[in-house]
Amino acid sequence: MASSTRHIDSTAVHAGREDLASLGVHALPIDLSSTNPLPDVDLGGLSYETLASGGHPPAVGSHVYARLWNPTVARFEKGLAELEHGADSVAFASGMAAMTAAILTVVSPDRRHIVAVRPLYGGTDHLLATGLLGTTVTFCAPAEIAASITPDTAAVILETPANPTLELVDIADAVTQAGPVPVVVDNTFATPVLQRPLDLGAAMSLHSATKYIGGHGDAVGGVIACDDDRAAALRRTRAITGAILHPMAAYLLHRGLPTLPTRIRAQQSSATQIAAWLATHPMVARVHHPSLPGGDPSGLVGRQMRGPGAMIGVELAGGFPVAAALTGEVALFTHAVSLGGVDSLIQHPAALTHRPVAADAKPSDALVRLSIGLEDPDDLIADLDRALFAAAQIARSHVASEMNA
Ligand SMILES: *Cc1c(COP(=O)(O)O)cnc(C)c1O
Repeated sequence: MASSTRHIDSTAVHAGREDLASLGVHALPIDLSSTNPLPDVDLGGLSYETLASGGHPPAVGSHVYARLWNPTVARFEKGLAELEHGADSVAFASGMAAMTAAILTVVSPDRRHIVAVRPLYGGTDHLLATGLLGTTVTFCAPAEIAASITPDTAAVILETPANPTLELVDIADAVTQAGPVPVVVDNTFATPVLQRPLDLGAAMSLHSATKYIGGHGDAVGGVIACDDDRAAALRRTRAITGAILHPMAAYLLHRGLPTLPTRIRAQQSSATQIAAWLATHPMVARVHHPSLPGGDPSGLVGRQMRGPGAMIGVELAGGFPVAAALTGEVALFTHAVSLGGVDSLIQHPAALTHRPVAADAKPSDALVRLSIGLEDPDDLIADLDRALFAAAQIARSHVASEMNA
């Protein structure tokens, strides 16, 4: 069967593992070499030249040095590219290292302006707002992309579903509005299981692989799927700035791929059930999940996304005191940042992941973000139900003690 006609579950299991049989192994080999033997000065030099300018290693030669190329990382990149329908992908030490490289490859001395659709992950927002990489930024809503583009715009950056309020952005519409300007989509929340930005015209599909791709909360990494030219530019930037993924992390991230579709479907199914339950809870003011009425105003689930995903935003009727107390009362959810793992997490975006975001764009302080894991959804609901009432009681007793003080 041609690999292009395979279902994503089959691709996820086999992608990037094509050379294992010829190596006589079944599990992904981990190559920890920091340096590699050189056949001779000429071939070594040619390999260096090819790799440092962003190419793949020549058939005869050397990988030279692990900042330039690593076979364990390259296998993960091949697998991820196939899942994203990219010609290639390039892996980085973290999602933010990937975002940094994406920006460095699109800017030039006369093109330093970025159009960024809010909301974005707090770290990305912070990177752009500080102008640390010498960029200027216009933050805008999805409908304002075309109007925000200037002659020196180097890229449009967007996230869908967006962190932490799960707003959906129409990628094809953003690409149309951007015209010749490349669109970078942060696909961390959707993963290629639910959405493939490159098929919709995006220039790069970027991940914090730390999240769903790895899926087990034990590896930090980033990856960008794109065409061959952009991959070469990204590899060159990665070689120069030293942002390559570590092979141990590449092994763990690649090991996450076979279970990715199954994990996403199970977590999404639980999240949909939990979001519907939360939406009827008297202590909940608003639930953000694309499966709920109003959560997908443009009808993108089914068209752009194959499902609503497994992240939920919950605004508490009792505001910040209940939101803060809830994080300490849940038992099956760990109070921690990050997301996309097999275990459920809860965190308060305004205080943590979105702390650096400007006041007028910061999420509500009544909001907590849930990353739904693989626990039984009925157990997660029971845990939330109990914790919600306990949190309300704590918040009430704080108010009472303040009034008595
Ligand atoms: C976590 C995250 C990032 C940053 O990735 P790191 O691996 O933590 O550097 C970027 N975008 C989104 C949507 C994220 O959730």
